[in-house]
Amino acid sequence: MLKLQETIKVFEDVKKRDPGQPEFHQAVVEVLESLEPVIRKRPDYVKARILERIVEPERVIMFRVAYERDNGDIDIHRGYRIQGNSAIGPYKGGCRFHPSVNLSILKFLAFEQIFKNSLTGIPMGGAKGGSDFDPKGKSDREVERFCKAFMTELFRYIGPNTDVPAGDIGVGAREIGYLFGAWKKITATWNGVLTGKGLSYGGSLIRPEATGYGAVYFAAEMLATRGETLEGKTCLVSGSGNVAQYTVEKILDLGGKPVTLSDSDGCIYDEAGIDREKLAFVMDLKNVRRGRIKEYADKYKGVVYTPVSANPDHNQIWDYKADCAFPSATQNEINLKDAQNLIRNGVYCVSEGANMPTCIEGVELFLEKKILYGPGKAANAGGVSTSGLEMAQNACFSSWSREEVDRRLHEIMKNIHASALAASEAYGSKGNYVLGANAAGFVKVADAMLAQGIW
Ligand code: NDP
Repeated sequence: MLKLQETIKVFEDVKKRDPGQPEFHQAVVEVLESLEPVIRKRPDYVKARILERIVEPERVIMFRVAYERDNGDIDIHRGYRIQGNSAIGPYKGGCRFHPSVNLSILKFLAFEQIFKNSLTGIPMGGAKGGSDFDPKGKSDREVERFCKAFMTELFRYIGPNTDVPAGDIGVGAREIGYLFGAWKKITATWNGVLTGKGLSYGGSLIRPEATGYGAVYFAAEMLATRGETLEGKTCLVSGSGNVAQYTVEKILDLGGKPVTLSDSDGCIYDEAGIDREKLAFVMDLKNVRRGRIKEYADKYKGVVYTPVSANPDHNQIWDYKADCAFPSATQNEINLKDAQNLIRNGVYCVSEGANMPTCIEGVELFLEKKILYGPGKAANAGGVSTSGLEMAQNACFSSWSREEVDRRLHEIMKNIHASALAASEAYGSKGNYVLGANAAGFVKVADAMLAQGIW
């Protein structure tokens, strides 16, 4: 709950100005709450109205995207780019293609991205974009036509030193390829305007792996504060897309046992553990055949599949015995009841690969129970960090080895953990990574805004 007059006023104004944006409100109130100890110490931030300015995106771009289906029909979608804050570097953040996409969701994501990017230590501002287009069930040619139409408008607002989009839900290697091809054709330039590119045209090794690997590195750092490792730990992983797949891979590397995966139709529980052979099956299923996770249960014996439709009010994936949880699907996939189930089933380490997967009450419960809880803006920052490394490689026309990029990613994740932990201690709540990540990310951006005058 907000306690300071200054933060209460900012939040009231946001709600009045942006009604009907619940996800954005949720992200703002969580940040404001944890920044109260910072605000108490920094009257100069209040005087310069840094909070009021930071909750207002620098630019919100909305546009029409029309394209032709294979059967000749015309589909019309809405495209967005939210340029949140550019105080410390060019705007940077992914693009999401999913039917649920709206202004509220993209504003929350762009807002979170400001602090996340600051935490990485790489000079990147915060942005997010996307469309309510659903690539699921579309042919490759339809996806290509949509991406071309989307970039035909977006290209005006982005650039390698202005705003560098990347992937997110529904925007993987295929979509980035089409978007980059369109950028190159429209602008007649070849540069690192998008990250997550294919290896043959300027992509970085380890970028596909980075978010999942990073979330596991972050969990390992949290466990190390209690003298523990991932060895032998049972882990719940949600989602079955990019982040979930590489989370499973790194859990296996570090000796853990992943037992769950999901998609929007349901979840699988494999008590025997998801091993490398089964993971290869999932990667082929999801990335090549674009199938559903249910097929995992059809293929492997002893696997339980629970469809969402079986009980829409009960999220089965968070109701299995485990030590660690890696929510890696989408926002608000852990409600209060799910958080209670996790704790009741023995989970004491939660590292968020997804953005804002835990609702506010769930976060409060994790903090109250003092479990190791790594919020998305710290735990999943490995993806954007490696995007930053991709930009660096593009800028000097070089490419680094797999080992080099992984070493840097690991180092960045350790530094993010250390700075969030240090900030949590400095503001009187050691081990509260929500406060630590928000405070450490915010102070750097706020100081840059102060230095640059009133804009
Ligand atoms: P993908 O599209 O590769 O995978 C998303 C997975 O989550 C799929 O299994 C999808 O199931 C499931 N999912 C998506 N929306 C919903 C929903 N509304 N309800 C239930 N399940 C859903 O995306 P990513 O793996 O890239 O992203 C996952 C999360 O990680 C997102 O929150 C994203 O913002 C975050 N993230 C991603 C980064 C990256 O580098 N990719 C970086 C930082 C954060 P289905 O196939 O049925 O849609």
